[in-house]
Amino acid sequence: MELTPVTDLPEIRPGDDLAELIVDRAGDDLESAEVLTVASTVVSKAEDRTADLAEYPVSGRAREIADRIEDVAGEQKDPRFAQAVLEESTELLIDAPFLLTETRFGHITVNAGIDRSNVPEHDLLLLPKRPGESAERIRRGLEDRGIEDVAVIVTDTSGRPFRHGQRGVAIGWTGMPASRDWRGERDRDGRELGVTVQSVVDELAAAANLVTGEGADGTPAVVVRDWEFGDLEGSDELFRSVEDDLVRQALREWEFQ
Ligand code: GDP
Ligand code: MN
Ligand code: MN
Ligand code: MN
Repeated sequence: MELTPVTDLPEIRPGDDLAELIVDRAGDDLESAEVLTVASTVVSKAEDRTADLAEYPVSGRAREIADRIEDVAGEQKDPRFAQAVLEESTELLIDAPFLLTETRFGHITVNAGIDRSNVPEHDLLLLPKRPGESAERIRRGLEDRGIEDVAVIVTDTSGRPFRHGQRGVAIGWTGMPASRDWRGERDRDGRELGVTVQSVVDELAAAANLVTGEGADGTPAVVVRDWEFGDLEGSDELFRSVEDDLVRQALREWEFQ
């Protein structure tokens, strides 16, 4: 398996055609690629998802939330930021000492994934509205330029419960299933696997994130070659629904104690 960053991409501006910019720089690599990953940061920039704190009139709820939180510098949380998080979210799962929410497209992450790094000229960068559709647009853009059958994954850096550190996750994908179902396969002792569903899009996103970096590298897109999904059954389930999520149910019970 080979992961190659797409180099020399410019600072992405609203309206930029990411597929065109990427094909211009990595067309040859893409011809033989299975997957292209693109960091949500540049997808959001291209889709004009920047915002400024002044655009968020503060509700009573946002003020109440912000009053109880300090940011990493020990400063009181800006209530306009809390308002922005609420507007991007359908549910607040944890409200202190940080905001954990479900975004409108079903991804659970801190601060609704609103980013303050790598955002020149504006205060905030919101996640793409519908990252699955963003991935689809990029894939069609590749096809328009004669590059067929490349799966596209939109990634974001996200924290994990139970463990320190962040890693890349998939927030939108197209052209491949989200996961590979190992149930019914056998291990080396012949024992049948009963529960293993491998979240392949997250694993590809994490691998790609090793190459993109998190700072000033300027490499938001990664071409994946010599990798195959294989013959196992695929599924597009990634974000758990509440009924199907014991951890989330436990959080709700804890909140009302
Ligand atoms: P996120 O994980 O989606 O939040 O994205 P990051 O902010 O971690 O950035 C991922 C990679 O994209 C890093 O290498 C950044 O330097 C790079 N990056 C961010 N914005 C731009 C841009 O507008 N142009 C280029 N060329 N690289 C960018
Ligand atoms: Mn960032
Ligand atoms: Mn991000
Ligand atoms: Mn990142």
